[in-house]
Amino acid sequence: MVGNIIDHAARYHPRREIISRSVEGPIVKTNWSEVKNKSLQLTKALLNLGIKAGDVVGVMAWNTARHLEVVYGVPGSGAVNHTLNPRLFSEQLIYIINHAEDKILMVDPDLVSVIEPLIEKCPKVQNVIIMTEKRHMPSTDMKNILCYEELLAQEDIDIQWVKRSEHDACGICYTSGTTGNPKGVVYTHRSNTLHALASAAPDMLGLASTERIMPVVPLFHANGWSIGYTAPLTGASMIMPGRDMTPKALYEMLECGATVTAAVPTVWLLLLDFLEKENLKLTYLKRVVIGGSACPRAVIEKFQRKYGIKVLHAWGMTEMSPLGTICSFKPEVLTLSEEEKLNVQETTGHPPFTVDLKITDDQGNNLAWDGISPGKLWARGAAVVKRYLKSSSDIADKDGWFDTGDVATMDPNGYMRITDRSKDVIKSGGEWISSIDLENAAVGHPDITEAAAIGVAHPKWDERPIVVVVCHRDKTPLKKEILDFISKHVAKWQVPDDVIYMDEIPHTATGKISKVDLRQKLLETGYVHPDTVK
Ligand code: ADP
Repeated sequence: MVGNIIDHAARYHPRREIISRSVEGPIVKTNWSEVKNKSLQLTKALLNLGIKAGDVVGVMAWNTARHLEVVYGVPGSGAVNHTLNPRLFSEQLIYIINHAEDKILMVDPDLVSVIEPLIEKCPKVQNVIIMTEKRHMPSTDMKNILCYEELLAQEDIDIQWVKRSEHDACGICYTSGTTGNPKGVVYTHRSNTLHALASAAPDMLGLASTERIMPVVPLFHANGWSIGYTAPLTGASMIMPGRDMTPKALYEMLECGATVTAAVPTVWLLLLDFLEKENLKLTYLKRVVIGGSACPRAVIEKFQRKYGIKVLHAWGMTEMSPLGTICSFKPEVLTLSEEEKLNVQETTGHPPFTVDLKITDDQGNNLAWDGISPGKLWARGAAVVKRYLKSSSDIADKDGWFDTGDVATMDPNGYMRITDRSKDVIKSGGEWISSIDLENAAVGHPDITEAAAIGVAHPKWDERPIVVVVCHRDKTPLKKEILDFISKHVAKWQVPDDVIYMDEIPHTATGKISKVDLRQKLLETGYVHPDTVK
């Protein structure tokens, strides 16, 4: 049970600190011992509110120590911790709160305004617990409101975690559902524990009691990359950045002593830009885990060469709890030149024990691990989902293989390289062009901050790539200059036909480029004729 993880942290690493930017404002400190005690109080409070084993508690909160109390207090009461992404549209939130049958909602005070307009449409919710102290309670018209700290103050810690089977549900996270309704992924006590053990390993996150990890990735995104379990399991300290995701605020939190951090590439593009502009250095940071979408080579290079911080490029999915692979160096890679090592770091690396991968053609035949043949990527493992919540059919085949929807190559050393999502591959003249390769090449240009490549219908070639770019402040390189730059990194026939400038590229609720919205934006703004957009 995940309760064992916090028990271990509280018993053997009680004084390791958790430093948070609180939702009330100030930076506050606690430790694993106190987090456990407050989790026990929460467990008791939830049981007194009538929570029964298997009930679902929805949680909409930023990364703070209080949120960690919930990560353990909710499953401790036998209930299931359902993380809610506040950036989802109201209709999606209503859908997932009702679909998961959340009985209680726990909400950060500044997110009450997200819940208020939809609460009437969520009839199963009995109480809303606002995660703050009495004096910071926001005014609201919602009924059955409770104050988190007031509730906990009424309880002592004289209670055991409610006994559950290791196969019982412990958490739920919905995929963002770019097509159709979001799908619920259920994590069990067993899958979360095995996953945390696997991701703590030296070739993976490599956590230890001497490290301080700062998850910028929200706990509500893809099981919080499991860091809320992996850190206490190893006795690591945590730095929780709270709500403020501006580069200045993240810098301030990193300088509280973070040695490891983790987030999607967009966060790091902005931070690197800030560091350069302000001429700042990071004092403590040794490793940065970058995943969720492809990490451009330019970002890896800058972190490593300019700041001496090692990049760990990672790949995973909500359906995989989420870790699939991390790019750490095996002996074969250690002997390579710096330039060749960077080539390897553009791959997403190799899986931990418990995860198995294969690539196949469309007929399901295994493809060679030659580093060049792209195929459908399949995964299976102890923490890989078999079936979505309330679905009537399995998503894994009889041998447990799950079709990830990604296209990838595997090299002879077992390094996996994502070339695309199946639906984003650009098919030109019977050949595949990787949108990720084009984006990475474009972002390597010093004046480009972000790039998205998409396929546009073409009468002769079926599809041709175009690239949408966001430029640095006050810079607009000419189209020809950008295309010439890209042509140095990809084959000639893969170079996009056109460059489109935008002030901002649309992102999904988890901070990734949303190609669906981008295509829509292109249609609406008339950049490309509607008939020619894929
Ligand atoms: P959502 O789809 O809700 O954003 P996920 O985090 O589950 O949430 O998305 C998983 C997908 O993100 C993967 O299937 C893959 O397409 C993409 N992805 C994750 N990490 C990487 C990476 N390092 N490089 C390229 N794509 C990645």
